[in-house]
Amino acid sequence: MSARAHRSPLTYQVTLTVLALAAFALVMVVGFGFYAAVQADRVSLERQKIFFANGLQDQIAAVEREQESVSVWDDSVTNAKSGNQAWMAENLSVWMYSYYGHNRVYVLDDASRPVHAMREGKVVSPDLYAEDETALRPTVEKLRGLIARPPDATGAGGPVKMVAEDLVALGGKPAILSIMPLVPSSDRVTQARGSEYLHVSVEFINDTVIGKIAEKYLLDGAHLLPLSQSVGSAAIPLMDSRGVILGYIGWDQERPGLTLIRKAGPALIAGMLLAAGALAFLLRRLRRTSLALQTSQADAQYLAFHDTLTGLPNRALFEDRLLRALLTTGRDTARMALLYLDIDRFKHVNDTLGHPAGDELVRQTAARLQRMVREIDTVARLGGDEFAIILVDIRDTRVAEDISERLLRKLQEPFRLMDDQVFVSASIGIALASGPKVDADDLLRKADIALYEAKKNGRGRYQVFAGDMDDLLLRKRKVENALRRALRGGTEIKLAYQPIFAADGRTIVGAEALIRWAHEIHGALPPQQFIAIAEERGMIGELGQWVLREACRFAADTQLPWVAVNVSPLQLRDAGFAGQVVSILAETGLSPARLQLEITESVLLENNDTTRMVLEALRRSGVGVVLDDFGTGYSSLNYLRRHVIDKLKIDRSFVRLLDEDSSSAAIVKALIDLAIALDVEVTAEGVETEEQKALLVGMGCHQMQGYLLAPPLEPAQLLLLPGLSPIQSRPASVRA
Ligand code: C2E
Ligand code: CA
Ligand code: CA
Repeated sequence: MSARAHRSPLTYQVTLTVLALAAFALVMVVGFGFYAAVQADRVSLERQKIFFANGLQDQIAAVEREQESVSVWDDSVTNAKSGNQAWMAENLSVWMYSYYGHNRVYVLDDASRPVHAMREGKVVSPDLYAEDETALRPTVEKLRGLIARPPDATGAGGPVKMVAEDLVALGGKPAILSIMPLVPSSDRVTQARGSEYLHVSVEFINDTVIGKIAEKYLLDGAHLLPLSQSVGSAAIPLMDSRGVILGYIGWDQERPGLTLIRKAGPALIAGMLLAAGALAFLLRRLRRTSLALQTSQADAQYLAFHDTLTGLPNRALFEDRLLRALLTTGRDTARMALLYLDIDRFKHVNDTLGHPAGDELVRQTAARLQRMVREIDTVARLGGDEFAIILVDIRDTRVAEDISERLLRKLQEPFRLMDDQVFVSASIGIALASGPKVDADDLLRKADIALYEAKKNGRGRYQVFAGDMDDLLLRKRKVENALRRALRGGTEIKLAYQPIFAADGRTIVGAEALIRWAHEIHGALPPQQFIAIAEERGMIGELGQWVLREACRFAADTQLPWVAVNVSPLQLRDAGFAGQVVSILAETGLSPARLQLEITESVLLENNDTTRMVLEALRRSGVGVVLDDFGTGYSSLNYLRRHVIDKLKIDRSFVRLLDEDSSSAAIVKALIDLAIALDVEVTAEGVETEEQKALLVGMGCHQMQGYLLAPPLEPAQLLLLPGLSPIQSRPASVRA
């Protein structure tokens, strides 16, 4: 079964969907994690920058505060103005270096000329101021401007704090610059506005300074980045008041997001691997389940299209193959043949050897057939012992016949069933299709009819469907099937009862049971026709028994003097018939004297020993025998004498002619006289007019039956007639 190897599209789709979802989930988790980390890092970086900016601002403020401690002081004003170098070094410059770490200090006079200078703790020549002057001058001028400006008109802010600060680069090194005027701290010293000396303090922003800031905010690796060096994202520019960048402060960026990822990473990866493992397991389970499902589906499909006993294609698959075969014949000129094969007397094998043997026979037959045909042909079991074989690509009828011949020979070889050696034969009906317009049902029907012909012509043979096997055969088969169904327990088949009257035309002496078939289609068939089909299809025995039992049962429950039942000649050929009648009488409790069996002349003509014995046995048992349709067959006084008959029924064709011409009246009169001479009763059937009745009575006829007196009636209607009410209770003594 190649279907099992295939991946089902459903499994494939589900797997794909699950994998896509898993991939999506993974991307989402990783993506979000990454995004969050980056976002956290970004926010953190902003904060770090703010820390450094604030730190720098604090540092500038510190420089100012430190400077203020010396610039607002009476002694500073007087000593600076008096040019006391020693005092200035001790209190305004070297002190600033040693105590606060200011790198350079200048004292400028009221014209902003240097009067004192200090670099890195050493007093130097004031001339060195020239080196820094360009960088310092804007701030110096800014302060001079501040001093020159009159106090705030509103006066609300009090005295303005005199300070000008900025960031500058001295010799390429960024530095904090702060300039303040030297002002008195008390009233003891006075100083005219505009005559102030200035105190200039410079603190380089070196790694020590930056380290102090970084330490305060717990940031690592902070250092000064000169302009020449490229900077990363963890850096802030050192910018002067005009927006010129003097350098950068850089540090090792703190990345909380990245750290988190690094720390949580292994656990996350382990979790994902675990999830992937679970997913893989589930997908494997899914695959296995769907595989199992597919397998059972394939099994179910196989069962749906194959016969369990033989493994052959069943009817459904057969019909499909047949349609396909017909399609290909339609396309090209190739022909195909349909063989309908049926084991002869299969029922006999079943009945004598048992069903297991019957099954074994079917199985072995199937195997033989399968072996005999080509791979491209189809052998199917249609049910019971019926097989159909589709032979494709058949050159002509001869080929199909040859194959059939070989099949039949093969089946004639002995079968070993259980411990018995069994010989069987089979019959084959062949139908060929060549045109594109062939209908599958039609072909089947033809093969079926041909098979029926083969059986009729003596079994163990094949028969090619000939065009003249007409539709009647088909109809017969349909009727047969419908009859079988009806017999098996339907209510379709019923009996009607036509009363038979004494010569007075009023007293009911008995009734004839007449079969009725209430079938929607075949019910229209007159009894004579479907009785003929039942006879032809070998089911008259079954049908006859049913009629007999039904009629006896009915009569036993009524006060009807007797009931007449029609019997087919074929029933009388069965040696067991008399025995059946006796047992039905016993079964229903009807006295034999109350049963009459109507037979036809042909039975007597047959001169068959079995029939004769059966008739004698019947009469011995006390059952009446009536010769029906008297006058229509080869009436012979000989057989009337030889066989013992209780009654003659003059056929209605004579009765009908009664009022037409006198010669027929003479014939009827002769028939009645003959009955009287033979000392048997005589009944006239088909009495339709008063004239006929009067004539018959006049001729001495004992009993009459016909539409004039009563048509065939339903049981209930019959019982409404006077004197025929059903027996209420039926004691055993009455039955005997
Ligand atoms: P049959 O045995 O001659 O039965 C009498 C037939 O004549 C019945 O037809 C009945 O309805 C019909 N008939 C009765 N009175 C008149 C009348 O006044 N005028 C005319 N024209 N016909 C009348 P039915 O029921 O159609 O049966 C036809 C035949 O079918 C029977 O002829 C009998 O041969 C056969 N048949 C009926 N029932 C059975 C049965 O249970 N077993 C067998 N083996 N044959 C049966
Ligand atoms: Ca009859
Ligand atoms: Ca008759």
